[in-house]
Amino acid sequence: AEAVNVLRKRCRLHVSGQNVPPPLMSFDDLRSKNIHASGYTEPTPIQRQAIPTLLAERECLACAQTGSGKTLAFILPILMSLKVPSDAGIRAVIVCPIRELATQTARECRKIAKGRKWRIRALTRSMCLDPKLKDLPIDVLVSTPLRLARLLKKKRVSLSGVQYLILDEADKLFEMGFVKQIDSIVAGCSNPKAIRALFSATLPDSVEELARTIMVDPVRIIVGEKNS
Ligand code: ADP
Ligand code: MG
Repeated sequence: AEAVNVLRKRCRLHVSGQNVPPPLMSFDDLRSKNIHASGYTEPTPIQRQAIPTLLAERECLACAQTGSGKTLAFILPILMSLKVPSDAGIRAVIVCPIRELATQTARECRKIAKGRKWRIRALTRSMCLDPKLKDLPIDVLVSTPLRLARLLKKKRVSLSGVQYLILDEADKLFEMGFVKQIDSIVAGCSNPKAIRALFSATLPDSVEELARTIMVDPVRIIVGEKNS
């Protein structure tokens, strides 16, 4: 317990919630081949706490500044938990506020998933127009809120098998006014076992409020100061 507190203090990690899992001391503890391939040696502070939290199937609200490695913090536990690619339908959804970010996030996720046959797809316009969209093999779908909400409304995509829903850049999702779309995506991920997580660079009241309404017993993780 002492080592845990020392590490958290050194990393300026502030956590709250019930039975928060201990932070990751090193990537070696994960025994993940993916991470060795990507060449990272040490986890960033947000990765140290968010990875074990999501692996423990706990919902979380994670706040750390831009450039702090939040993408790896969610995609690594998702891939480790899904274990292998599967044709069972979409099992993880990552929502990003703008298309460029969705494309970039999908690319970063693929980099981490290197060497395995994971189907990580950013939802493109041409995919939306594809009548066979439902049959496309996708493990992880990255999308903006509008595109995904529109497909859901038309029942052209099913999220009922989703195990992980990540709302990335949650502060921006709010600033940009996507509350309605987020609500319908959250509702679409109807699996009672689905794990929801919010990642954000800042924590305005709107994000805290969303966390309270959509998550069960979440772990709150803040690196540094809340709105720096
Ligand atoms: P954020 O989403 O918090 O803004 P990103 O996930 O985009 O940050 O990561 C920022 C950069 O840091 C990326 O180029 C990524 O490859 C790199 N990165 C992520 N994790 C690590 C790590 N553990 N060690 C070194 N670099 C990392
Ligand atoms: Mg990011």
